[in-house]
Order: sequence, then C-alpha cells, then structure tokens
Amino acid sequence: MVIRMRHTRSHTANRRSHHGLKSPEMAVCKNCGGHHRPHHMCLNCGFYNGKMVLDLVAKKKDREERMATKREAISANRADTTKPVATTPNK
Ligand SMILES: [Zn+2]
Repeated sequence: MVIRMRHTRSHTANRRSHHGLKSPEMAVCKNCGGHHRPHHMCLNCGFYNGKMVLDLVAKKKDREERMATKREAISANRADTTKPVATTPNK
C-alpha cells in the first residue's frame, strides 16, 4: 500500500501497530529440557522425537580436536615466520 498524502499521527500509529516483532515459537526438548524450534532437531543434544539424530557431543569433540591441531599448526608457522617477516625490508 502506497501512502500518497500526509496522514495524521493516529493514522500512522495505527498502521505501525502491526510492525512489532513476535517472539519465535519454541518447543521444549524431551531429552535435555532445552528449547528448540518445533518440528526441528534440538540443537543442544541432537535429539528429535526422543531419538538421537546427530551425535552432537561427538561432533563437538571432533571439531575441538581439529581446531586444536589447526591452532597448533598456525602458532608453529607463526613462530617460524615472524622473525624473517620483521627483517625483510632490505630491498
Ligand atoms: Zn535437547
């Protein structure tokens, strides 16, 4: 709807009375008791309808291991390269 003419404050407020945001509907997880989107897997524990869909604990552990090795590699790389990079301006 296009507003062509100036409206009164009450008309503007009346129009904007529908602009508020609604809080999303949430369901309670049967496994861990946390909140999740209805008809969706629980993002805390990976359960849907009482069954494990994704092993989120194992996934998180795998990810942390991967990130730890990556961090080690980066810090080792940095230790090797910081000194030469700092002394390169000899052109
Ligand atoms: Zn859960």
